[in-house]
Amino acid sequence: CLLWDWASPHILPKESSEADKNGEERNRQNFVRLLKYSNPDWLFLSGAFIFLALALIGEMFIPFYMGRVIDILSSNYKETEFLVAMFYMALFSIASSAFAGCRGGLFIFSMFRLTRRLRLLLFRSVIKQDIAFFETTKTGDITSRLSNDTARVSRSIAGNVNITLRTLVKCIGVYSFMISISWQLTLLTFLSSPLTWIIQKLYNRYHQDLVEKVQDSVARSSDIAKEILESVKTVHSFDAAEDEAKRYDDSLQEIHNLQTRRDMVRAVYLLLIRTINLVTQVAMLMYGQTLIESGFITSGKMVSFILYQMESGDHIRLIVHMLSEITHSAGAAHKVFQYLDRKPQVSTSGSYCPEQLHGGFVFKNVSFTYPSRPDTAVLQDISFNLPPGSITALVGPSGGGKTTCVSLLERFYEPTSGEILLDGIPIQQYKHQYLHAKVALVAQEPVLFSGTVKQNIGYGLEHAPEEQLKEAARKANAEPFILGLPEGYNTEVGENGSQLGAGQKQRLAIARALARKPRLLILDEASSSLDAETEHEIQKSLQGIEGLSLLIIAHRLRTIEKADQILVLEGGRLPERGTHEELVERQGVYYKLLHGHVLQNGE
Ligand code: ADP
Ligand code: MG
Repeated sequence: CLLWDWASPHILPKESSEADKNGEERNRQNFVRLLKYSNPDWLFLSGAFIFLALALIGEMFIPFYMGRVIDILSSNYKETEFLVAMFYMALFSIASSAFAGCRGGLFIFSMFRLTRRLRLLLFRSVIKQDIAFFETTKTGDITSRLSNDTARVSRSIAGNVNITLRTLVKCIGVYSFMISISWQLTLLTFLSSPLTWIIQKLYNRYHQDLVEKVQDSVARSSDIAKEILESVKTVHSFDAAEDEAKRYDDSLQEIHNLQTRRDMVRAVYLLLIRTINLVTQVAMLMYGQTLIESGFITSGKMVSFILYQMESGDHIRLIVHMLSEITHSAGAAHKVFQYLDRKPQVSTSGSYCPEQLHGGFVFKNVSFTYPSRPDTAVLQDISFNLPPGSITALVGPSGGGKTTCVSLLERFYEPTSGEILLDGIPIQQYKHQYLHAKVALVAQEPVLFSGTVKQNIGYGLEHAPEEQLKEAARKANAEPFILGLPEGYNTEVGENGSQLGAGQKQRLAIARALARKPRLLILDEASSSLDAETEHEIQKSLQGIEGLSLLIIAHRLRTIEKADQILVLEGGRLPERGTHEELVERQGVYYKLLHGHVLQNGE
């Protein structure tokens, strides 16, 4: 308890003492929890603790034998005694180095294992979060928790605990030896402690502040570089390369200034501390000399004492530093645990997987509001059917809520009220994997992954036979262009399919959707980058797939004239529905859209 109180004041933000207490309590809980995460490494850690103890025992005896050697040399010299003392000194010195090496190695090994474990846990938890989480959370925040905070946390556990423990135990050993030599001399070494303490505290506060500022400026600088590199086309076309280089240089200058200030602060601090140490040592030597003269201690003992004292000074400083590090990393632990403990708002606990499926979807009085925009209702009391094997078109002005309907079908979000049913059963009762095998989506802007064409079509279908993937490619009318690629199905598509054209990407995305043999295929303006002929071909081959319902959100209204039903979605409501002919006759929203469209495109 004392140890925590010791380090925390200059690390935690200045809040009321009540909040301080809560913060400390939380840090302590996080720390205990982290220790639990280290459980699988108990064998390595226990080994490390044993080596730690052994190394320290060895180390403690070196100054002792050094003093003895000096006493032997300065009184009536006996060769055997001298050799024995030298032998022990060498023995303890070699053994303690070897043990210290083993201890360090084991701690670092456990640290890497813990980092890896934490990263995987965190990644698992994050990747399973609902889409709303990703909309309200910056990717940079997630990746920084994943890489920096996990590393800092495990460093605190395995690394700092290692050093703190070692130092603490060593301190006890050192002071025991010192007191056994002379308690008066020991007391003298404490005289400068209050001053050291104050300097230490001031330094910690100021230095920590600067360290954070340096980190911030490094982050800002890399943000600037990232921004410039990502918009390099714009930079070139405005001939702004030199200006941008200057902007980047300014950010580098800021880092440099802060780093210089940080290092100067450190230099002044070290100078002060070393001066105090020197003064203490001089006082000690003067007093020690009177002790030697009056025969209380030998000069060898005095040498041992000085050696111990030199160690002790460093160690107290190190403990203070390490404790503040540990408290600091408890903050990082909090960040890691925050995401680790977050429960996705869309539950994935459904377990229903019927063998037979009709494949009829029903929207029943569905209303929806985006969590990130709680004041605007995007869908208001929508009801419609998607009968098995039918083609439904969803049309309407942009922003009407079409993509939102798709997101609800994909269970990216839960409806605010109402239900979506599959064969009469709410979709959240189906097993997550099952539902996603039955509903396939080709999104407005399809995302491909770097890898081959074949890997992209088979995404999420590790063991699918090659023929299944090729069949999907044929149905998506993608095979002709795939075979034209240098290595056919084994051609790399580049990062997000950058080596393919927009139309090719879309056909590949359709093939990927078909490869899992869905019962409902959703094309969300998926054909917008295809020419009319290709679009027609694809639709024809899709219609030929038995039992497949299509939900088409189309950009060109002409392509959906043959749909079994057309739903017009406007402002989150469905003012019209029917076949093309019925809707044209009605001369309502659809008619106007069609009219506007024809006018716009001059068709
Ligand atoms: P459509 O696909 O018909 O063009 P959307 O379903 O994409 O329309 O959008 C419907 C409304 O919801 C729009 O007003 C849009 O601004 C809003 N919206 C869409 N996505 C989000 C989101 N992720 N968070 C908040 N609001 C959104
Ligand atoms: Mg849309």
